[in-house]
Amino acid sequence: MPCHPARARELLHKGRARVVRQVPFVIRLKDRTRDESEVQGVQLRIDPGSKGTGLVLTDEKKESHDQGGAVITVRRGLVAIELQHRGDQIRAGLRQRAGYRRRRRRANLRYRSSRSANRARRAGWLPPSLRHRVETTFSLADRLCRWAPVTEIHVERAAFDTHSLSAGRFLHGTEYQHGPLTGTTVRAHLRARWNAGCAYCGMSGVPLNVEHLRPRSRGGSNRISNLVVACVPCNKAKGNMPVETFLALRPDRLATILSQAKVPLDDAAAMNATSQQLTHALAGLGRPVDGWNSRLTKTNRLATGLDKTHTLDALCVGPLDRAAGDRIVSFSRQVLTAKANGRGSYARTTPDKHGFPRLLRTRAKQHYGYVTGDLVRAVIPTGKWAGTWTGRVSVRARGQHSLTTPTGRINVSHRNLRLLQRGDGYGWGVRPEPSRSTSRKMG
Ligand SMILES: [Zn+2]
Repeated sequence: MPCHPARARELLHKGRARVVRQVPFVIRLKDRTRDESEVQGVQLRIDPGSKGTGLVLTDEKKESHDQGGAVITVRRGLVAIELQHRGDQIRAGLRQRAGYRRRRRRANLRYRSSRSANRARRAGWLPPSLRHRVETTFSLADRLCRWAPVTEIHVERAAFDTHSLSAGRFLHGTEYQHGPLTGTTVRAHLRARWNAGCAYCGMSGVPLNVEHLRPRSRGGSNRISNLVVACVPCNKAKGNMPVETFLALRPDRLATILSQAKVPLDDAAAMNATSQQLTHALAGLGRPVDGWNSRLTKTNRLATGLDKTHTLDALCVGPLDRAAGDRIVSFSRQVLTAKANGRGSYARTTPDKHGFPRLLRTRAKQHYGYVTGDLVRAVIPTGKWAGTWTGRVSVRARGQHSLTTPTGRINVSHRNLRLLQRGDGYGWGVRPEPSRSTSRKMG
């Protein structure tokens, strides 16, 4: 069971436990096995997000109320972890790789025969940047299940599937294009986004047509980011001109339209794509998994008076019968942040901004026993940086490694280092939970 740091210190002092991991700090009891112990169990609550995901361990106790003896449920947050995803870096890396390939094909290099066309993607395929989100969340949930007696998992389901809700079953593939909401939702969505007025002249209270920014005749698609609503005169005047030509004299309006049209659905679509797969993956952990909608989380959070962070949201995932007196009474004041750093790169060189090789990378990852990302302790006897430092190491081929400390980067010889924990692909840190929540009495 997660315990107080003082309790952990006591157990370690008496030799009753040993350290399993430094970050997150995990100990194991030596004088008892799990079968001999009585543990009440904890719940794992997850709030998946597009940039970060909150994972919280909670316990729920039944307490009898003073008056009348009614039994209420009291939820406490024990451990909070915020996982920071690296989907953007993955996407940028893949774009760069695609760029290199494109250049190799176009440049006058040796002939490369084309790879087979029309390769099918397997069912449930996700782009790497999204698959990473499912996999890292699963991997952290898996570890938490090993470190703590997790008995059940609660996940927030980010978005509603309006089509399958209205059909009353799960839909597949092209069924979505023939759903009962086709057309109506797109129009309603666009009207809402443009305040039921023409995107070009702002006129409202007139009939509005769905308009393509880049016309169909010029290869424009029907996706939402290419659509606006326009009044009939504007629609006629634009004809099959691209929007850049039509609004050439009104650059500010053009900029507004382009930015507002692009904003929309990528985060939501990404959440939709990953949500179902995450739930499916978590089911493999052998604990019951429950999905809850985001409105429930928000209601719980507002009723408890908590700020909006991923970890506090995660704490509020799952049902609370507030009418009967159920409540959240505490949360962990420090959040452990886990930034997905990756495990290095396959690239053999680092290019400059024009794509020319700038420096060569070594073939080896390990230098003098250390790999970038290892948690180390440096004891430096003399010099400017004399003292003891703990942090994440970034290795150099000559053995003069770079160490990230809270006060900045320092260079340290491999001889002065001691390994605390092998790198696991995450950069661990700590942040406090927002102060408004901490100063507020909860209940
Ligand atoms: Zn108009």
